[in-house]
Amino acid sequence: MSQIQTGLLVLLLTLLGVVGYNVYLHETTPNEISYTKFVQLLKDGKIKQVHLKGGLVTGEDILKHEFSSYVPHVPSLMPILDSRSIKITAEKDSGNFDRFISSMVPIFLIFGGYLIFSRMQTGGTPGFGKDKGKTFQPKKNTGLTFDDVAGISEARIELVEIVESLKHPDKLSSLGGYIPKGVLLQGPPGTGKTLLAKAIAGEASVPFFSIGGSDFVEMFVGVGASRVRELFTEAKKNAPCIVFIDEIDAIGGKRSGGNASGSSDEREQTLNALLVEMDGFDSDQTVIIIAATNRPDILDPALLRPGRFDRQVTISLPDVKGRRKILEVHAKKIVLSHGTNLSNIARSIPGFSGAEIANLVNEAALMAARKNKSAVESSDFDAAKDKISLGLERNNVVVNEKDRRVTAYHEAGHAITARLLPDTDPVHKISIIPRGQALGLTQQLPLDDRYTYSREYLINRIKTLLGGRAAEEIIFNHQTTGASNDLIGATEIASRLVCEFGMSTTIGPIAYMQDQSGFLGGGSTIRPYSEKTAERIDNEIKGIIEQCHDETKELLIANNKFLHKLAEALLVNETVDSEEFDIVHHCYVNEKNIEKDLMKTRKEG
Ligand code: ADP
Ligand code: ZN
Repeated sequence: MSQIQTGLLVLLLTLLGVVGYNVYLHETTPNEISYTKFVQLLKDGKIKQVHLKGGLVTGEDILKHEFSSYVPHVPSLMPILDSRSIKITAEKDSGNFDRFISSMVPIFLIFGGYLIFSRMQTGGTPGFGKDKGKTFQPKKNTGLTFDDVAGISEARIELVEIVESLKHPDKLSSLGGYIPKGVLLQGPPGTGKTLLAKAIAGEASVPFFSIGGSDFVEMFVGVGASRVRELFTEAKKNAPCIVFIDEIDAIGGKRSGGNASGSSDEREQTLNALLVEMDGFDSDQTVIIIAATNRPDILDPALLRPGRFDRQVTISLPDVKGRRKILEVHAKKIVLSHGTNLSNIARSIPGFSGAEIANLVNEAALMAARKNKSAVESSDFDAAKDKISLGLERNNVVVNEKDRRVTAYHEAGHAITARLLPDTDPVHKISIIPRGQALGLTQQLPLDDRYTYSREYLINRIKTLLGGRAAEEIIFNHQTTGASNDLIGATEIASRLVCEFGMSTTIGPIAYMQDQSGFLGGGSTIRPYSEKTAERIDNEIKGIIEQCHDETKELLIANNKFLHKLAEALLVNETVDSEEFDIVHHCYVNEKNIEKDLMKTRKEG
């Protein structure tokens, strides 16, 4: 139930309470009759018994009808009552106070309802009916371990260290080492970020606080910030512990810098409070904050500074191997028939996230149950897959075979260009698993932080970006829209090369760009040069791109066997990591050498 629904329900119940109370009041004063009528009935001998309470008379007539009436002066009634054989009971008048209290009941009800409602809205209005500590209750033990999270070997290595520092906080600090404060888990939804955070807490057996970023952002300015402070007060009491903030982008989005509207004002205050809390830990309080997001791009850079979320762990959609492992984890919970081949199933669900795989296993079990089977079979997985995929196809996650091939060659083109050219960043990972808008990805990791770039590095970067499109042209003889981002990237580098870095031979070492943020993006572009110069700059940029494109194409044609080999590997495995890429390259170089030798011997022979 959403908050609004619950709120409405509470309001409704309050109203019902008020109405009900009034009905009750009326029930307790049944069939009110006038005093004249009462006296008349009394004189006619039709009253059997009365009950007196202050001025109120209630009773029963001889037909057992209940009645009530107000008596203006009770003492003068007594002689009449005494003269008849009527059963009389009396009760001390509760007085004005009771009546006052009962008249207040509806107001209490309304007020109480409002309090509950506003608590739901704000999750604890400061100062008002707040039960401290109740709002943030840690889970004492999540009971999960790394074994519950499959296919995350890369992330695991980085996180083991966190577990260690939670287990032995004194060990690290006595060595003068610094305990990481914040870890940012980034990746698409359903890839197990929450699960992983819980597993870290479980491995270290420390308490686990969990809250959604959007839970902080409230209607009233300042509430989110005070909730942050509350959370950290509780966390410090429970240290060592883990605080997990899901969807941190809800509060951690880039700050607007000045012109804040109401709601973003609240968000900024909340974010500031979080930053202050993170900076304010003592070293003896091991509180590790794990945040999750699928939008790392919109996070405020202040969050990522050292001492804050300076550990960033990327969790991507699982590849075939990962999917198989996740299947194994979840298949443990069901009865699997002996003939079921999990590898085949893993192969048949490209693009599935961990959550979707968990769902698949569950659906398959339901399918089997529906057919009264004693174990879940491959056919159940197929049926479940179809059921889920139909939903997924709408999200364009399932990629057809043609697109997969094009993507495989495209990504291979990027990777090979990067590999064959000197002075480029090493290829870290190549993948044709669709994510978001992109059908594939080639990830390069710089060896170290570069502060200066050589012209060659920049040119080769452009070539690497153009390599995807060039490979498509060579193999399929066509161009696709998939390369548009690459082109934007390449053009941007070429522009900066010419205008900002002054590296163009024809234009010369003059910086034309004064405002680099304004390039391609928003902001104002200052062009302190003539139209004619602008034309020369445009031509120069175009020239660089064209030359890079042609040279890349030549490079790929000369190494087209490498291209085919890598594309094949991608089509089979979906992801090729740096080691596997090395192996493919190695095979290619070996075969090339053998061929060369053959040619040589043929010529000689
Ligand atoms: P996220 O926080 O990234 O959106 P969750 O951690 O909430 O994803 O994952 C939802 C569910 O999907 C988990 O509870 C688990 O059942 C399943 N799941 C996701 N990733 C994995 C994984 N790597 N191994 C095992 N189960 C997973
Ligand atoms: Zn590309």
